Amino acid sequence: MPKWPIIIGLVGGITIGIMLIGDDTAENTPEVAQDEARFVYATFYPYYEFTSGVAGDALEVRQLVPNGAQVHDWEPNATRIQSLKDSVAIVYSNTETEPYVDRLAGLEEFGGILFIEASPDGGDADIHDNEREEHEEEEDHDEHDSRKSHTWLDPIDVIGQVNRIHDKLADYDPENAETYELNAREYVQQLRELDQRYRDGLRDCQNDTIITFHNAYEHMAERYGLKVFGTASAHHAEASARDIASMIEHARETGVQAIFADELADTRHELAVADEIGVDVIPLSTLEGLRLHEQASYFEKMGQNLDALRDGLRCQ
Ligand SMILES: [Zn+2]
Repeated sequence: MPKWPIIIGLVGGITIGIMLIGDDTAENTPEVAQDEARFVYATFYPYYEFTSGVAGDALEVRQLVPNGAQVHDWEPNATRIQSLKDSVAIVYSNTETEPYVDRLAGLEEFGGILFIEASPDGGDADIHDNEREEHEEEEDHDEHDSRKSHTWLDPIDVIGQVNRIHDKLADYDPENAETYELNAREYVQQLRELDQRYRDGLRDCQNDTIITFHNAYEHMAERYGLKVFGTASAHHAEASARDIASMIEHARETGVQAIFADELADTRHELAVADEIGVDVIPLSTLEGLRLHEQASYFEKMGQNLDALRDGLRCQ
């Protein structure tokens, strides 16, 4: 049995080798772990995009809500709460859209984490201010709430949000402040170009009403002179027979040529309405998430939406 001593010798050598490497790594562990721990969480897709745009290569950004999930009903489970605790900052839209963030911010374990509320006022205050006040007087509570959300679909509003993310990250991490500044400036430039594309693309359309069940488009519509007819009182809820009937009536009155449907949701009801009045159903994204396995930037998704709107509203 001459082989055994050789094998034992080899295994012994390897073991000592592993122990040596192990010791070596152990000494460096605190530093490595600290570097690895520098990551930021952004709650859902557009906030992941905006934060990544500002952070560039200076900071790792992770998306909390997986694509394909419903943003409005989503809650983090224990595992996700644990990994949120390891982050340095959490970027979110506002407490209206992600109410769980408010609860986490109140917990002692989250005391050292920077919370960045990108859209605290739920929309930029200087556009259509008078109109908004009038609306708010008329609207019931649910509609009011829905208006505080979905600001990420308005490129001009997003400029303010990106600047807010930039300010906070630069304060937190002054070493990389210059990088954040350059990245934010470039991102804002792209947002201005996107805004111009929307202005040009939606200037001359046969129809001006977005008819849809998921009322996510008010900010964007206001910005570009469009109207939205949606079941605002039931933001993501199942459409009732009454909602469907009123949608058919409104679609007939306004002479629209398309019904817009949330590309992530079941489109049965939209198809029923479209069938009844003989128009198309066109998918539109709320950008609350991508489809499973889809990869697209914020600008690509917004471009797809512009194409869909131009198609459905019959724009020149
Ligand atoms: Zn929504």
